[in-house]
Amino acid sequence: MTAYREGYQPFPGPVKRAALARAEGRCQRCGREDLPLQVDHWVNDASGGSNTIDNAVVLCTNCHSMKSATERQAGVQQRTEQRRRNTRWHEPHPNS
Ligand SMILES: [Zn+2]
Repeated sequence: MTAYREGYQPFPGPVKRAALARAEGRCQRCGREDLPLQVDHWVNDASGGSNTIDNAVVLCTNCHSMKSATERQAGVQQRTEQRRRNTRWHEPHPNS
């Protein structure tokens, strides 16, 4: 399963169940029914998304990994990653 990064707020159980019921067992992006489904934040919580049903989206594992990659490219997770880098690394950057 996903390794949740620090500060990640998972949805409460009832919100997850409501989101899955609303999606009727299908990915809300591609409509597939044959892949495991995950309840994800529509607006990433690093960008101020909330843990309510309005911000829940049901995605298959394919769409979920695509969405995460898109968000990384768009720099949505930049703040979190910067903080992680700042606290973890004290040596010079390997490329410097
Ligand atoms: Zn999908």
